[in-house]
Amino acid sequence: MNFGFFMLKIGITGGIGSGKTTVASIFKVLGIPVFDADTVAKELMEKNLVLREELISHFGPLVFESGKLNRKWLASLVFNNPYELNILNAMVHPVTLKVASDWFGMQDAAYAIKEAALIFEAGAGADLDYVIGVFAPEHIRIQRVMQRDGLSRNDVLARMNRQISDSIKIKLCDFVIINNDLVLLTQQVLDIHNKILSI
Ligand code: ATP
Repeated sequence: MNFGFFMLKIGITGGIGSGKTTVASIFKVLGIPVFDADTVAKELMEKNLVLREELISHFGPLVFESGKLNRKWLASLVFNNPYELNILNAMVHPVTLKVASDWFGMQDAAYAIKEAALIFEAGAGADLDYVIGVFAPEHIRIQRVMQRDGLSRNDVLARMNRQISDSIKIKLCDFVIINNDLVLLTQQVLDIHNKILSI
């Protein structure tokens, strides 16, 4: 079936460790195409020549090491420096938004999903028809990320503090998924899938 022009563009967002990727993988099982914006952004920093030049011209040659993005170095530079982080985001977000927009244009499904940690913060909400927010209590997110990434509690907290708070984000979302250990994730995804299909 050709859904073409009418295909809905859906965002999935949520704080670090909320379960975006886990939720997105259930949508994938349902046959919904998913664009992983955070992974694509990292790839673009290495492969997009214009972006590469911009990064080198602002952050200096150390941003690449033997042609590969020096992620640790860059992360440590922007970690506690909102000014530099904003500059980095201002370089990376527009390129990623454009690639996502082209990707949406190529999909042929009832709807397609863009998964991104920052949707409202990156000004990407306007390009999407609906946004699904994934939320989990802070103590569960901290526990999950510490376990997944081998980070300390303080490292996880520092990353969390850079994102807009759940209480603000939840009001901006059209659909909400609660990913605690109590409510079944799959059923929540199925309910939203059916609602979107009926729009
Ligand atoms: P990030 O923004 O850091 O990329 P994320 O929002 O994409 O995180 P996930 O990677 O999906 O979050 O989940 C974080 C960790 O918690 C993963 O290791 C995942 O396997 C685990 N996890 C997510 N949801 C659940 C759940 N309902 N039960 C148990 N473990 C879960």
